[in-house]
Amino acid sequence: MQTPYDIVIIGGGPAGLSFAASMISTDTQVLVVEKSDLVSISKPKPDGREIALTHLSLKILKQLDVWNFVNQAEVSPLKEAKVFDGDSPSLLNFKSDSSDIDALGFLVPNYQIRQALYQRVSQAPNITLKTESLVDDVEFKQTHSNVVFASGEQVQAKLVIAADSRFSNIRRKVGIPSLMKDFSKVMIVTKMTHEKTHDNVALECFDYGQTLALLPMVGNASSVVLTVTTDKAQSMLDMSEADFNQKITRDFKGQFGNMTQEGERHSYPLVGVHAQTFIAERFALIGDAAVGMHPVTAHGFNLGLRGQDILATLVKEALAHGQDIGSESLLKLFEKKHIHLTRLMFFGTNGIVALFTNDAPVIKQVRRFVLKFAEKFPPIKYLISNHLTEAKKSKFLPFQ
Ligand SMILES: Cc1cc2nc3c(=O)[nH]c(=O)nc-3n(C[C@H](O)[C@H](O)[C@H](O)COP(=O)(O)OP(=O)(O)OC[C@H]3O[C@@H](n4cnc5c(N)ncnc54)[C@H](O)[C@@H]3O)c2cc1C
Repeated sequence: MQTPYDIVIIGGGPAGLSFAASMISTDTQVLVVEKSDLVSISKPKPDGREIALTHLSLKILKQLDVWNFVNQAEVSPLKEAKVFDGDSPSLLNFKSDSSDIDALGFLVPNYQIRQALYQRVSQAPNITLKTESLVDDVEFKQTHSNVVFASGEQVQAKLVIAADSRFSNIRRKVGIPSLMKDFSKVMIVTKMTHEKTHDNVALECFDYGQTLALLPMVGNASSVVLTVTTDKAQSMLDMSEADFNQKITRDFKGQFGNMTQEGERHSYPLVGVHAQTFIAERFALIGDAAVGMHPVTAHGFNLGLRGQDILATLVKEALAHGQDIGSESLLKLFEKKHIHLTRLMFFGTNGIVALFTNDAPVIKQVRRFVLKFAEKFPPIKYLISNHLTEAKKSKFLPFQ
């Protein structure tokens, strides 16, 4: 058995590295275990994901001194977001000035966030990153836990944190059940340049048979997000670039002029996950391992950042008072502060997906009514907008 660690984090994705960054200011010894190799963690490649960061996320990344490592030339402010329902005139429009802030949020390429987190964490003397290592199990032993690697090696920790993706194997190994929702849809994302400006407005068009979104990047470029049923995904991925350019130009009704694909098309099968509990003995789930969201409301990493921030704050308080960082009371408080909001977001998002992607005539009527009501009733818009941007604490949500 090697020297014990205070904390072992399983998974060096955005959530795991964020928690590690939160521990830099403490005197804890932290081990981050990642199954992929160092190059894919230190120099992640563009993966087509544009992450819409809320104001709260931006604040956390600044506090962690991670934001400085993000290439600011790739950050695009989101001024407005419009939601369309097929060909119907119903429209929901969110503007940054309607919630007293400059921008609704900030679009940042995922690989930039991952690279910035790595750069920050790799400078820290109290964080050790172990790559090409797969964690196979976690065994609870009263005063500590043993983290067991696939190689047979073991390390001890007072607190073990699993950030090993929505398909978390460790979550299952420690006996935490989860609710999985297979949407049977695939999200295809790619960067496209276009002739006319997007004015920093995001579009979400719930068309019949597909959902099409445009996320404004820097300059005359956007991330185009096409969601189709699984049976149609391969043909969209196999389509020639010329045909794809024509299809997307036509789907946006030519409003951006000719659109041209830049780089690859990436695909993501849509599966949502919510763990039944976020804790076990000396163990906590963060990031997608706790809640893996449908990306339509752009909340996955935002919730991951929020969750790790709640846990890190409690760990720092315990350290300041000489208390056990893996205690049951600390972990219960973490879960209490985080799980209600994630449940609301998870089921709320799944409800939005069900309402907006079902083409049955009665459902179409219901969503037109919902859109009209929300658009004409400012308090509803204010609440949604405020909640999506996380610009201010809402007095309506007691668990924030
Ligand atoms: C198309 C798309 C668009 C999105 N847009 C947004 C957005 O606008 N806003 C937003 O907030 N979120 C968005 N998200 C969600 C966001 O990308 C995820 O929430 C986030 O990447 C999850 O990070 P994570 O660290 O929890 O998990 P992951 O990124 O899945 O990382 C898990 C890590 O754990 C490692 N691992 C797994 N098992 C083990 C093991 N046993 N031992 C060691 N290592 C292990 C893996 O190799 C991986 O590196 C989007 C997602 C998609 C697919």
